[in-house]
Amino acid sequence: MPDKINEIIEELALANRILAHEGVLDAFGHVSVRHPADPSRYLLSRSRSPLLIEPDDILEYTLDSEPVQPPKAHLYAERVIHGCIYQARHDVIAVCHHHAPAVMPFAIAGKPIVPVFHLGAAMGEDAPFWDQHDEFGDTNLLVVKQEEGHSLARALGRHSAVMMNRHGATVVGGSLKELVSRSIFMCQNAEYQLRALALGAPQPLYRGEVRLAGALSLMSNVVTRTWEYWSMRLEAAGAMPPRRSSAKAARRPVPKPSRVTPRERRKGRRR
Ligand SMILES: [Zn+2]
Repeated sequence: MPDKINEIIEELALANRILAHEGVLDAFGHVSVRHPADPSRYLLSRSRSPLLIEPDDILEYTLDSEPVQPPKAHLYAERVIHGCIYQARHDVIAVCHHHAPAVMPFAIAGKPIVPVFHLGAAMGEDAPFWDQHDEFGDTNLLVVKQEEGHSLARALGRHSAVMMNRHGATVVGGSLKELVSRSIFMCQNAEYQLRALALGAPQPLYRGEVRLAGALSLMSNVVTRTWEYWSMRLEAAGAMPPRRSSAKAARRPVPKPSRVTPRERRKGRRR
């Protein structure tokens, strides 16, 4: 299991950097993954910009979004988004909350993003809206209270994404790779939808097309291919995360015992 944990933690650091490099996350936003051995916990970075996240930044949280170990660093204020969704959706393995420029015009105008090209079907047929003001009145728009997180999770329902009025979006996935694919394709879809509007009213995918194309875009060989592609782009930019320090230590080769006798060593020192 330690190898599995190291692997998932390194994958989470990479997911953060891929989503930042592809323009989904900026200085803000965050990605989490459910703990592979304990579904009542999840993994999320300390408060840090996603492009800078390293495996050693990743912390473990309970589903009440409390850190398992006393924190030595600042934590994300909006981590309840993750905990509340994991509580409500047992099928969800990974969560991304973001304020991507591609979705913001829709979040501000309150207009729905709908799949307008085949890969856009990864987001599902639609994404419901959640307006924090409806239930909680004036706030700073950050989702920080448990009741706010639960309300957002209710709005998400069985969907793959929820739009947050005047704030951004939250996307879920059945794995980290699926989440990364869905988040990026949903942003691409939003960009195409907006651009196509200049040419006339875009024709969204038919319901059956969403089902068929959506299933295709989330096949494991497809998400592995996209993950590899986005990882390569990140590597070319020189922004790959370092290895986890405990994983590095575990893999460090054990030094061979010296064949030099203590007497020889003393002699050698005199030379
Ligand atoms: Zn936010």
